[in-house]
Amino acid sequence: MNIVLLGPPGSGKGTQAKRIEQIHGITQLATGDMLRAEIASGNALGRRVKGIMDAGELVPDDIIITLIRGRIGKPDCRNGFILDGFPRTVPQAEALDRMLAQRDLRLDHVIEFEVDEAVLIDRLTGRFTCQHCGASYHERDNRPKVDGICDVCSSCEFVCRPDDSPETVKARLGVYRRQTAPLLPYYRRTGILQRVDGMADIDAVTREIEEVLG
Ligand code: AMP
Repeated sequence: MNIVLLGPPGSGKGTQAKRIEQIHGITQLATGDMLRAEIASGNALGRRVKGIMDAGELVPDDIIITLIRGRIGKPDCRNGFILDGFPRTVPQAEALDRMLAQRDLRLDHVIEFEVDEAVLIDRLTGRFTCQHCGASYHERDNRPKVDGICDVCSSCEFVCRPDDSPETVKARLGVYRRQTAPLLPYYRRTGILQRVDGMADIDAVTREIEEVLG
């Protein structure tokens, strides 16, 4: 099963992708995480994309398409994959269609997370993740059970993303409206676009997604 999760930053794609990964045994491919790994390794690609990401802009299509092309052919994608944060532009979606056709694959579901922008700003500006296992939390409504200790791996080290500052969040939402939202009519035409209520609580969103996935 091959799935695309589509929605603005902070709409819960990453959280739900991890759950789908566990439930269905298919692999989450999060382009944002891949790019942050390149930055952390300090290589030339990481140096090239860091400023773009910190400003909340999109990395050039050719870089992202190359990353995904190298990934979907790997053995861990044999059962399928969940694309989280890709595609983000119409040319990326067209490139994905070509890549899948070459491998005799197709997209089974495109799931749109519908959310209110004011809520997104609030969500993104309070979020933090465990530096070791990547579990995500929120200052106001999703703190670790014991303050300062990760529920999943007991690490005490947490990080905030540099692009989660209020100004950059606003820029990222603008980028979503201008460059990514045109993917909604693109996928609506193919008949595989379905919508879930991204404002519901995390378990309710998972249940809605499970209904979509059948
Ligand atoms: P995310 O973790 O999905 O919010 O992505 C963080 C940042 O990585 C974005 O603001 C972009 O700068 C970059 N990025 C991630 N995925 C893509 C993509 N498909 N196309 C272009 N840039 C991307």
